[in-house]
Amino acid sequence: MPDDLADRLRAVQQRVAAAARAAHRDPAEITTIVVTKFQPIELILRLHDLGVRDFGESRHPEARDKAAALPDATWHFIGQLQTNKARQVARYADVVHSVDRPELVEALAGRDLDVLLQVDLGAGESAGRGGARPGAVPALAEQVRAAEGLRLRGVMAVAPLGVPAATAFTALGFVADRVRAVAPSADWLSAGMSGDFAEAIAAGATHIRIGTAITGPRPAA
Ligand SMILES: *Cc1c(COP(=O)(O)O)cnc(C)c1O
Repeated sequence: MPDDLADRLRAVQQRVAAAARAAHRDPAEITTIVVTKFQPIELILRLHDLGVRDFGESRHPEARDKAAALPDATWHFIGQLQTNKARQVARYADVVHSVDRPELVEALAGRDLDVLLQVDLGAGESAGRGGARPGAVPALAEQVRAAEGLRLRGVMAVAPLGVPAATAFTALGFVADRVRAVAPSADWLSAGMSGDFAEAIAAGATHIRIGTAITGPRPAA
């Protein structure tokens, strides 16, 4: 792994472009969200200087403080979201990737917000990272579509352990098809992290969420 931030960012950008070309896709249709959870604000400012405009965070209020420091960036909330924190997160997040249950949709309704439905692709036992079971997703999509302010953009998932990432992301594609049957414009697919973004791009990811491959290791929480 190159040890300079700019080198690592460039290396990932080149790998993203190569994965896109291998899948006969235009690299320009893939948004790389740099995941900066646990990282200091100085690192975020350096990434911003390097041209990064999409940041992913997973915890409130850490995310709030960082978003306040860089309000012109696009802030993606990608972590599990407690219902009682939803309205606070909606004040600074531009996109919430982790909407996975009716109570959360109710809590977010009325906000001006892009929403992705997080899908749990695990076989039965949840990985503890949240997500709606695939069968529950169409009804959730209907609920978001009917909610004032919320824009249903698509689906998000983390590949579960023990399943090849390509298999998981193919399954996510089928769930995405069902969401588009409800909301044809909900064509974002948020999938792929440092270890599996090439598989996600091959499966149609429009938004990849890359942490350590760009930032280096996360400081201990
Ligand atoms: C931390 C995290 C990422 C980034 O993970 P890396 O392996 O560091 O790239 C992506 N998505 C979610 C939901 C995360 O929590």
